[in-house]
Amino acid sequence: MKTEELKHAFYTTFGEEADALFFSPGRINLIGEHTDYNGGHVFPAAITLGTYGAAKKRSDRTLRFYSANFEEAGIIEVSLDHLTFDKADSWTNYAKGVLKFLQEAGHRIDSGMDVFIYGNIPNGSGLSSSASLELLIGIIAEELFDLEVTRLDLVKIGKQTENDFIGVNSGIMDQFAIGMGADNKAIYLDTNTLDYDLVPLDLGDNVIVIMNTNKRRELADSKYNERRSECETALSELQTKLAIKTLGDLDLETFDEYSYLIKEENRIKRARHAVSENQRTLEARKALEAGNLERFGRLMNASHVSLEHDYEVTGLELDTLVHTAWQQEGVLGARMTGAGFGGCGIAIVKKDKVEDFKTAVGKRYVEVVGYAPDFYVAEIASGSKVLSHK
Ligand code: ADP
Ligand code: MG
Repeated sequence: MKTEELKHAFYTTFGEEADALFFSPGRINLIGEHTDYNGGHVFPAAITLGTYGAAKKRSDRTLRFYSANFEEAGIIEVSLDHLTFDKADSWTNYAKGVLKFLQEAGHRIDSGMDVFIYGNIPNGSGLSSSASLELLIGIIAEELFDLEVTRLDLVKIGKQTENDFIGVNSGIMDQFAIGMGADNKAIYLDTNTLDYDLVPLDLGDNVIVIMNTNKRRELADSKYNERRSECETALSELQTKLAIKTLGDLDLETFDEYSYLIKEENRIKRARHAVSENQRTLEARKALEAGNLERFGRLMNASHVSLEHDYEVTGLELDTLVHTAWQQEGVLGARMTGAGFGGCGIAIVKKDKVEDFKTAVGKRYVEVVGYAPDFYVAEIASGSKVLSHK
């Protein structure tokens, strides 16, 4: 969306000029899936699909929100003095959570505001439109109320909103990638320590193609919580003999040697994924830095295999896209990205093969699944930012 359109949309919605304009990206995860709540490494990047915002301070304590993606909800009005979860307030609960936790952290929000939102991330497709929205609200409050808040604090407040306000037990990867992203860089993050490096994402004459299953992640949240608790139980079983804090502390050899301690087959598979995926993520970073894109691609494939067979979070739709992608010419690697059970996959594809790729993968997907997928070429973006200051 162009800044002129954004300004205009704010004006037609609220009848006044916006104070400032904002953008917050979505994210893909190159590799390191379901490792962020297991103390492992992740390797995400912010993308140019994202959420735009325009906002203006008010003189009273009313918050008015409007999203062009939820037109039917109209303008939703809430009070700065009642920041509690209410299903009737729809998507604005994300905004309420962020504002509540900002204030609890000691930041002064001294008046209400009018906020216009428009996003082009398909919601619920694993590209993290919710974290994009959380960080957007965070930087809007930072700008309008002159808050002294670090970017890492905004990231943590976004996660806190997702966990303690919305009730999704997710790790820190999404908010971190969206808050900390940089142009043409992937973020190599240790979720145990939050140490991170920005790694140049030099893909030569290849691009990242996002493949959207167009299947909503039904059941995703309950399955997600189930996987988390399976990993927690496996960890406590391993801890009877091993002095480890997280599954991310283990290499595969040590895991193998002690896996007899885990008393149930599914839990062995879940924990094995958490350990092997973390190791693959370390290797993938090395491969990328060495310019060994072939190996990087194979590690992505291996990640998918592990998510399909050990972690069991893929399903027919994602498997069809990814398995078909593997068979195409000019594809270095492909895997699901995000929590799974639907949502999106990613593939690294030679630029001049992208059109053939879309045609072939799209055709096969329709044959198997019965409806069409969507494809987008991902461009890597910087983190959440002010587009024009007040
Ligand atoms: P994901 O984060 O994978 O896209 P979620 O279910 O976690 O999926 O988050 C989607 C929710 O986030 C939407 O249902 C809505 O409440 C909120 N949201 C995301 N983008 C927008 C937007 N542009 N406008 C309003 N709400 C949004
Ligand atoms: Mg989300």
